[in-house]
Amino acid sequence: MKRKQLQAGWSGLSEEILEAVVQWRAEHPKATLREIEGEIDGRLSELRAKMISDTANASVAAEWETADGVVCPACGAKLVKKGKKKRVLLMRDGRKIELVRDYGVCVVCGQGIFPPG
Ligand SMILES: [Zn+2]
Repeated sequence: MKRKQLQAGWSGLSEEILEAVVQWRAEHPKATLREIEGEIDGRLSELRAKMISDTANASVAAEWETADGVVCPACGAKLVKKGKKKRVLLMRDGRKIELVRDYGVCVVCGQGIFPPG
């Protein structure tokens, strides 16, 4: 993903979040500080999750140029590339993000692994 595309996606979501908070405030004029905090944290964690997954998916680690030199952590045999696969990771705030990673399978024991990173 290109830099401009990354930024454009985040700008769009940021705008939506800002508008949603303003709208929510208008609908909840008597909200407590705690409720306001919860609403804003919830909205921002959406942006946070998107930024983390987009940044990670844009990184070089998302792809193996070739599986040459990558060996099975279990038996040390060679891996063959098996295309891309989604990997779901749990973030610190409990949200899940999806990463798309190259995926390799060991020719000997069949164990599948993702590239590091
Ligand atoms: Zn193996």
